[in-house]
Amino acid sequence: MRRPIIAGNWKLFKTLAETRAFFDALIPEILGVEHCEIVVAPPFTALATAAVEADGTRVSIAAQDVFWEQQGAFTGEVSVKMLVDAGCGYVIIGHSERRQFFGETDETVEKKTRAAIGGELHAIVCVGETLTQRDGGHAAEVVRLQIQEGLGKFSAAELSHITIAYEPVWAIGTGRTATPEIAAEMHGEIRKTILQIHGAGAAGAIRILYGGSVKPDNIAALMQKEDIDGALVGGASLDASSFAAIVRYK
Ligand code: PEP
Repeated sequence: MRRPIIAGNWKLFKTLAETRAFFDALIPEILGVEHCEIVVAPPFTALATAAVEADGTRVSIAAQDVFWEQQGAFTGEVSVKMLVDAGCGYVIIGHSERRQFFGETDETVEKKTRAAIGGELHAIVCVGETLTQRDGGHAAEVVRLQIQEGLGKFSAAELSHITIAYEPVWAIGTGRTATPEIAAEMHGEIRKTILQIHGAGAAGAIRILYGGSVKPDNIAALMQKEDIDGALVGGASLDASSFAAIVRYK
């Protein structure tokens, strides 16, 4: 039985005051929710504040990125230990915006993921194809390669500390959601890839989240698909009521 995760990715949004206001509004709206893990990923500057706000609630805190070294002369970077110290339990790795704008590759995804899970963080590793790749008929192949290259060397035991987020780049922030059928087909491909590399146990256990313009009005249909184990939500996670509505999809 895979426990669903609903995760919100705030990207480059929210000050400390806005972070506090978000949690003040969110917590009463999700009291009693038990069917899923709830994760919020603020920017680095708001992680510790968010962790204090979330303390004693069902919400866990994620970072949006991490560096693979523990410490040293790496100006601007943040380590796993620092994230744990700030109160994080999760970290998002390899988001398409990091791949597109900051040179993230499958190789750096692997290094960051290894550091994260070695340091007690649960990694949410993002994969997904661009519109050109989909239109060219290469969607499944692109995602399969990202998984092989980024996650292929992990053991089945290590994989239990990793969740995959399938985020078609053409659906992120565009208002264009993959239909539940397209998402389910890609999630099936991802599970098949994990099966081929890591075996049936790992394939059956790994959670695969969908991300790309998830909203309160499309989450239920997505969650009905067997291979969809939750959502990574961008824009709609910035508003506490809309994020709470997505969390309460049932
Ligand atoms: C994301 O940033 O991971 C995302 C899916 O964004 P949005 O929900 O805004 O498409």
